[in-house]
Amino acid sequence: MSKKRIVLKIGTSNLSDGEKIQEGVIYKIAECVAHLRDKFHVILVSSGAVASGYTQLRLDKQVLAHKQALASIGQPLLLESYRKCFASFGILSAQILLSGHDFDSRKATQHARDTIEVLLEHNVIPILNENDAIATAELMFGDNDRLSAHIAYYLGAELLVILSDIDGYYDKDPHRFDDAKLIPFLDQIPQEKLQTSYDPYGNFATGGIVTKLIAADFLLQKGRAMFLCNGNQLGHLEDFLLRQIQKSGTLFGEFNG
Ligand code: ADP
Repeated sequence: MSKKRIVLKIGTSNLSDGEKIQEGVIYKIAECVAHLRDKFHVILVSSGAVASGYTQLRLDKQVLAHKQALASIGQPLLLESYRKCFASFGILSAQILLSGHDFDSRKATQHARDTIEVLLEHNVIPILNENDAIATAELMFGDNDRLSAHIAYYLGAELLVILSDIDGYYDKDPHRFDDAKLIPFLDQIPQEKLQTSYDPYGNFATGGIVTKLIAADFLLQKGRAMFLCNGNQLGHLEDFLLRQIQKSGTLFGEFNG
């Protein structure tokens, strides 16, 4: 039986404690991927380059060019952590840096796709990120949520997994409301939930949940699925993907492991 393809997106909030990149988390992700590989071809999309650069040079992250400079310092450091952690499971990893329009122009998409096909064929884990030094879309908006949805679609993945700092999608923000309830399944996203609003500091008033819903909406419209779950509970992700047991997380659309 041929393996299904999944894209696993890791957010900055999973990797950074606000000060530094937590290599222990990267190790656990590598361990989880090592287990998932029995059944799936896994493609990673990882944020965290800016946070990683910030550990080396304290530039003001509110300035876009500073963010780009931090990303260019941090990207190789981040990938070195991934390389080491994957290597301890005997897994080779590779880096691919993209800009959003690589997935709009057919030619560039095809080149990226060809590269990734070869990597997967040879059991190498591709680790994708936006090329933040020259592209800014996801740095300013979305922390790779939308990019990972496009990647999942154009690379023929059946499922996009988004790891976050929450257990899934709730009926209201769980960090603000104690009585927020987790929604385990959703096959449609109300259009009004896709509108973004900002607080007075230019941050998302709703946390990053809107970009995740936009990603889910894009995939649902293409007949694909997305699973939003907690990056601190990778055991639950393994239960879901390897044993079809959903202990937490929100499944958007349909997915039959
Ligand atoms: P990440 O950095 O993991 O990509 P974000 O911090 O950008 O995640 O987005 C997740 C945050 O969105 C949650 O921590 C939560 O505070 C906020 N949020 C707002 N509304 C909701 C909701 N309805 N369900 C889940 N999270 C929500």
